[in-house]
Amino acid sequence: QAVFQSDIGTLLEQVGTGKESLSFMKRRIRRLAAQWASAARRLNDKLRNHWREQKRILVHVGFLTEESGDVFSPKVLKGGPLGEMVQWADILTALHVLGHNLKISVSLKELHGFLGVPPGRGSCPLTGPLPFDLIYTDYHGLQQMKQHMGLSLRKHKCHIRVIDTFGTEPAYNHEEYATLHGYRTNWGYWNLHSQQYMTMFPHTPDNSFMGFVAEELNETERLSIQKNKVNNMAVVYGKEASMWKGKEKFLAILHRYMEIHGTVYYETQRPPEVPAFVKNHGLLPQQELQQLLRKAKLFIGFGFPYEGPAPLEAIANGCIFLQPKFNPPHSSLNHEFFRGKPTSRKVSSQHPYAEQYIGRPHVITVDFNNSEEFDAAIREIMTTKVEPFLPYEYTCEGMLERVHAYIQNQDFCSPEAPFPPMNSSRVWLSGPPSPFTLLSNSSILTWASNATSYTSWPPLSALRLLASLEGQSCVKACQSAGLICEPALYRFINIKEAFSALDFQCEGVESEMNHLFPAFSAEHSECSLQQDLLLFSCAGSSAKYQRLCPCRDYRNGQVALCRDCL
Ligand code: UDP
Repeated sequence: QAVFQSDIGTLLEQVGTGKESLSFMKRRIRRLAAQWASAARRLNDKLRNHWREQKRILVHVGFLTEESGDVFSPKVLKGGPLGEMVQWADILTALHVLGHNLKISVSLKELHGFLGVPPGRGSCPLTGPLPFDLIYTDYHGLQQMKQHMGLSLRKHKCHIRVIDTFGTEPAYNHEEYATLHGYRTNWGYWNLHSQQYMTMFPHTPDNSFMGFVAEELNETERLSIQKNKVNNMAVVYGKEASMWKGKEKFLAILHRYMEIHGTVYYETQRPPEVPAFVKNHGLLPQQELQQLLRKAKLFIGFGFPYEGPAPLEAIANGCIFLQPKFNPPHSSLNHEFFRGKPTSRKVSSQHPYAEQYIGRPHVITVDFNNSEEFDAAIREIMTTKVEPFLPYEYTCEGMLERVHAYIQNQDFCSPEAPFPPMNSSRVWLSGPPSPFTLLSNSSILTWASNATSYTSWPPLSALRLLASLEGQSCVKACQSAGLICEPALYRFINIKEAFSALDFQCEGVESEMNHLFPAFSAEHSECSLQQDLLLFSCAGSSAKYQRLCPCRDYRNGQVALCRDCL
């Protein structure tokens, strides 16, 4: 049984030393320890001694290994990306606090040691049983495991979870399909279950949302923030000088109203991109950045970096986040940064999570090229009063709750999971036990109780079947009904009865490999089922198809979990 542990001493020892990245993570773990401990107490009460199995977990942080080139560590103190380290520090803490048996590796040597691969026989397949129930790694680590575990990786891959900042869509993950249909990238095609990829924000329901945490405030801190807010103080988002390039015009408008602060890294001279009227503090330790954000009223992004942790920290400290809308949206099809990433996701602003999940009054997203709109937004911000806000899913308790639920319920290994074997779905095709009944809301169908003998997580009771509009993805279709697409439930709706339940008259039913299926094509009254279970995908749309979508409800502030998911 796993027992919550709030002492972080052993975790700090395990993280090791010798790299700036590891020191950064350890500082963060220490700083947030009390917050994690009280969250653990609250979750423990909430779960009321619910039995939790203790898992043997290996965390192999591939991007920090020398063998992957480790480009991040040398930049920790120089304005390089820190989001990944924030997230890994929080993942390690969550797993430790949940009381699992944790091993941490940041080099190939340690990886071999933990996996029991004999020294000097690095590419020799691991022959015995895998000594772990779960392995958390990243794309670099996955590649290293492939090289050094050889064939046995295939055998053990259901135990792997890939921490993948921006997400991987099923069409890119499926090797054969990606190759045939132009979805092949440098990263994808591992043929994992798409929910084995875990993202930094809930970008797409096809992947699992791992997340990270931001600092929480106590009552005294809240009061002192209220007292000390400076209405005309702005902090610019961007610790690297290049992020300020070409932004003089916006800075000049902003400077008409506000005192501007920056935390841009510099060595000896002030970077030329940062105008003289900006008060630049240089790169700050996380704790000091928090203090600066507590005084500031506005945190302003100029378009880069995308989707980082800092805006959540700013909003949690009572700032309003002002950011540019991207029209057209940025994606791997039109933007260098996303090119080659295994997703077609359209990024509608610098921080779509802030835009869509938080929104006004904490987040204002405008077209920066429209000076009037930009100007008006700044004036509005100076007079708007906001409370510090942190979505539950980014609190320690929220992250512990979510990671706990994944660890205890997600199962990609047992033969019944995540899908029934093909032959049992064939049995269903020829006559399932009349699975659908109509709810009072006739556009939404629900699974009848006679199907509850199938075990599933999220539970079948959460399933709501919907048809998308032509040209609409299941992500959007579920969203517009106030629900979220749940790929783990696709297997239950990939049957011909689902079409009749939605009043689609099928001239013919066929089964094909296509990430948009199951779907209905009005042109030929054709009903198409999904042939390859790894291709079930919430993302993706085509003007030709109305897609069948498995939607579910979600908890307020915890989109990863349905109401009956705990
Ligand atoms: N950060 C910091 N000092 C600074 C500016 C930022 O420690 O002067 C931290 C910040 O607290 C955040 C992390 O850097 O947790 C990552 O921030 P960002 O959103 O910029 O994402 P990145 O691009 O670094 O992944």
